[in-house]
Amino acid sequence: MQLGPQPVLKLHAAPEIVFQEVTSDQSDEPPVTSSEPPSPEVSDPHPAELPLPPYFLHQRLPRMGESTRAFRRAHFPEATDAQWHDWRWQLRNRIRTLEQLECMVALGPEERRALQPGGSLLPFAVTPYYMSLVDPDDPEQPLRRTVIPVQSEFLRTYGEADDPLGEDGHSPVEGVVHRYPDRVLFLVHDFCSTFCRYCTRSRVVGQGELLPNRERLQAGLVYIRNHPEIRDVLLSGGDPLTLADDKLDWILGELRRIPHVQFIRIGTKVPTVLPQRITPELVKMLRKHHPLFISIHFTHPDECTPETVKACRRLADAGIPLGSQTVLLKGVNDDVSVMKSLMHRLLVMRVRPYYLYQCDPISGSAHFRTTVARGLEIIRGLRGWTTGYAVPTYVIDAPGGGGKIPLQPDFLAGRDGDDLLLRNFTGEVYRYPDPQPA
Ligand code: SF4
Repeated sequence: MQLGPQPVLKLHAAPEIVFQEVTSDQSDEPPVTSSEPPSPEVSDPHPAELPLPPYFLHQRLPRMGESTRAFRRAHFPEATDAQWHDWRWQLRNRIRTLEQLECMVALGPEERRALQPGGSLLPFAVTPYYMSLVDPDDPEQPLRRTVIPVQSEFLRTYGEADDPLGEDGHSPVEGVVHRYPDRVLFLVHDFCSTFCRYCTRSRVVGQGELLPNRERLQAGLVYIRNHPEIRDVLLSGGDPLTLADDKLDWILGELRRIPHVQFIRIGTKVPTVLPQRITPELVKMLRKHHPLFISIHFTHPDECTPETVKACRRLADAGIPLGSQTVLLKGVNDDVSVMKSLMHRLLVMRVRPYYLYQCDPISGSAHFRTTVARGLEIIRGLRGWTTGYAVPTYVIDAPGGGGKIPLQPDFLAGRDGDDLLLRNFTGEVYRYPDPQPA
């Protein structure tokens, strides 16, 4: 006999998830009736997905995307191929001022005012490469919103804080955050090639205070060495992949020499904002330090350009497991179709969707934050409607330092005697035999 869940009733969509659990002392009630919990709203099962650009599946990739080529011709015509594809050239030529930006982008008044000197917590900088992906005419374009400041950054609203995760309170040594029992966050420096306007560490990044000098890094390494319970070190910042190869090699080598450090991770946005950094030399160095995982910060499918696909291929070919971290952002990626397209592209790039973060309540972030209900709706639009590998874990990093708390739509519909009632992705209710111990 084939055992398995049996469909009991197909229920129609209802706007709210409101139900009561059927307890065992109610088990003589009719099993499933119209009083059964209504189904949650089922998201559009087939939202239009952005088409996968053909180069994703080609062995040979274009050297650069169309918009990048046009941007380079317009704004850096003197740059040679070698310069444009050199990550150090990209860093040296970052766009950092209002004067530079207004030559490239038709700025709106909100943006222009935000770029006047003073006030913002977070500095402004964008690599020429990433700027080539920014729409010069549309202030609402998702990538533009993530890197060009607007005046809303200056507003402080309820529940916001400069350090919402309480990292400073969990920092025994400058640059080390020890919040979970067996792992630490090691902030190697505060430099990023491009500053994201919703950065959780906007109080730190770009300030030039967290320097990657030996003395400070040694203090962090000593702390890790002296705490045998630490088996996992996450290098972050700032962006660790903006360090020179030899500096990063030294840090990784020192960590590898600590017997209780089993596992090292690097958190980075470099493959999306500075893919030129993923050179054969870097990858050759990184692969010496396995087991090494890399979590890449992706925001939107438009970031998956030929350059970024190539960077991820290089890392994956070096045997580095890649995961993604995405912050849920209003008007940027808070849409099932956009999120599904991003997750699908990541899988093709061998990047496993890992976390979808509810945006932290950092100061000046209200214009980026969505409701949690929106996040749950997006997960409901993915779970079951696409490959399980494409569904990230949706989390809130609890304000005050409580750590990541996973959230997911409620698929548990209640209980009927010895049966658990489960709702599947289409809203149908199924039974699973689950007798309770006497
Ligand atoms: S790359 Fe990361 S650390 Fe740097 S600004 Fe963006 S979110 Fe912040």
